[in-house]
Amino acid sequence: MTCEAERLAALVSAAAARLAASGPFGEPPPWRTEADPYAVFVAEFLLVRTRADVVARVWEELLRRYPSFEALAAADEGELAALVAPLGLRKRVPLLKRAAAHVVERYGGRLPEESGELQKIPGMGPYTAAAVSAFAFGRPVVPADVNVLRFLSRLTGLPSGHPTKGSPTLRSLVARLGPAEGGPEPGRLIDFTRHVCRPRRPRCGECPLGDLCGSALLAG
Ligand code: SF4
Repeated sequence: MTCEAERLAALVSAAAARLAASGPFGEPPPWRTEADPYAVFVAEFLLVRTRADVVARVWEELLRRYPSFEALAAADEGELAALVAPLGLRKRVPLLKRAAAHVVERYGGRLPEESGELQKIPGMGPYTAAAVSAFAFGRPVVPADVNVLRFLSRLTGLPSGHPTKGSPTLRSLVARLGPAEGGPEPGRLIDFTRHVCRPRRPRCGECPLGDLCGSALLAG
């Protein structure tokens, strides 16, 4: 490892430890307190394109009408499309039904816990699989969405890279933010990147990382 790589790794580890000892950051969304993996799965599927506060009402109604993978797999496609239309997800309905059918047929209606296995389900990308694994099963993985990658870019001063995938260097640092490395619980990290190190006008004045962060030091 080069000196620069070591410096970046140490910086991210220090920030992770600080975040683990700070917070909470804002109100967690309702599915974060759910013990039911199906409810977490539905939430993460609906969150693909839309903010958490907008998703909550549709999520509750979807769970009420279709309370299991079996019910979702058998749902009327038109009714389901009307339900998720406010989230702009009408076109993803066939994929959602396929995912539910896959869980029923392949796993007997019970989600697997491992992120790698979850990615075999139709429509489950690396982020969604990691989020379900972390939030539904408490696995120590880091769901690295665009918010987490943006935070890492600001913290390290590294270019943000691809708009949704970040850069290989940023992605290589993600694991250091996880609880297995002394970092915060995944939910706390996600809340931090949405409420404090938010997309626009980050709240640097309230941030526990002000003395570590490259972006804040440049601005200050
Ligand atoms: S100091 Fe500001 S830019 Fe840096 S991590 Fe905190 S909120 Fe984000």
